[in-house]
Amino acid sequence: MSNEQDPQTGEVGRATGFELRDRDRDRGGQAAARGIDSALERNRAFAAAAGHEGAVVFPNLQLQLFVITCLDPRTDPAHFLGLGMSDAMVVRNVGGRVTPEVINDVAYIGQLAETIMPDGPLFEVAVIHHTQCGTGALADDTFRGRYAERIGVEESSLLEHAVLDPTATVTRDVDRLRKARAISPRVTVSGYVYDVVTGLVTTVVPA
Ligand SMILES: [Zn+2]
Repeated sequence: MSNEQDPQTGEVGRATGFELRDRDRDRGGQAAARGIDSALERNRAFAAAAGHEGAVVFPNLQLQLFVITCLDPRTDPAHFLGLGMSDAMVVRNVGGRVTPEVINDVAYIGQLAETIMPDGPLFEVAVIHHTQCGTGALADDTFRGRYAERIGVEESSLLEHAVLDPTATVTRDVDRLRKARAISPRVTVSGYVYDVVTGLVTTVVPA
């Protein structure tokens, strides 16, 4: 695969945008070892500046937001949605996909919310898929075959996990949440696509 960046699309590499650039490759191991130390140092500064004070278990009432998105470092909702401490519940996984585990997470928070809010809307789940998603690698037969073997699942079940057309996959995942019997009908669900080139979020499925 090429590591060149396409000037038209901004895409790096063939499908995923996940290709290592040479400068990343050079500093690889060393950066990984230092990463957590640097993060722990930032944590001490955060605590010293009282960043944790005033945080609440349930999201700030104005937002009442539960975000599901990809774990890609480019798609951190604290940045692209401007979310601060206690603003939202966030689940991130590979692709931001609505898996059975994610459905259970939403059901769990829904049940907790029901205990403190006996009626009315509980919260909104926003599913956000993005362009240039690394799950695109699952469309590659060799990569998908190796990964299926590694995690011990049927190869055919993985193809569906690839976010090649985020508008289509986010629509499917919103539908999956809306149809899940474990989730309270008082939870609303909407779907969006985040464009990593423009930085903009587009509504695909309104609440
Ligand atoms: Zn992704």
